[in-house]
Amino acid sequence: MIYLKTDEEIELMRESNLLVARAHGEVAKAIKPGVSTLELDRIAETFIRDNGGTPAFLNYQGFPNTLCTSVNEHVVHGIPNAKPLQEGDVVSVDCGVLLNGFYGDSAYTFEIGEVDPEIHNLLQATKESLYKGIEQAVENNRLGDIGHAVQSYTENLGYSVVREMVGHGIGKNLHESPEVPNYGRRGNGVKLKSGMVIAIEPMINLGRRQILQEKDGWTIRTADKKVSAHFEHTIAVRKGKADILSSFKFVEEVLTLQSEK
Ligand code: MG
Ligand code: MG
Repeated sequence: MIYLKTDEEIELMRESNLLVARAHGEVAKAIKPGVSTLELDRIAETFIRDNGGTPAFLNYQGFPNTLCTSVNEHVVHGIPNAKPLQEGDVVSVDCGVLLNGFYGDSAYTFEIGEVDPEIHNLLQATKESLYKGIEQAVENNRLGDIGHAVQSYTENLGYSVVREMVGHGIGKNLHESPEVPNYGRRGNGVKLKSGMVIAIEPMINLGRRQILQEKDGWTIRTADKKVSAHFEHTIAVRKGKADILSSFKFVEEVLTLQSEK
């Protein structure tokens, strides 16, 4: 069952996703070598609650924190911990919020200090692939068009696409139908309708696509222990052009200011 959202509901979802985007901006201000993912988690949780939201991942199926923080070879669902981040690390910060009855969900992979150019390029390509997917998220296209766009863009660059973990519908539930794979064939799958709200979230690996789960029961990592990147937006399908409800604006403002220092 795919729930189509009314225009009013989409505006509420824009608010939820704006809070996610602003929480990411707070994380961006703090993230640097020596800071732990647990400290980032505290910052995000406090900010979300101070702004009237509820952290969406905390206690979700028993997940213990507000953020999923996935460092280097960790793909998604990493649990924040007290270990300081190091120069050269990359960390996917995935954040979800419940506000006014609707969920927001977005992820950004941060570079910690100076990062190997090969890894920097992976992050850039993964972010770009997200926008390639979003370009296809328009009325009367199909889900396969989104997956195909992400897959063809990243595989042409020599990267691989995680198959087992996918994007998802989102609304009054954090995860709704349909599943949104980051691979697929053009013209295949569910037809997209205006009012569908989905989270598109490519998980792209530097090496091979295979993944496995760590013993903590949550963290997904690459089998070959090479780096993985993850970017996510919540978007509303529209005629002609998707409406991106989440935003990297606050993160990118902070990163730009820091690079000018
Ligand atoms: Mg997410
Ligand atoms: Mg998601």
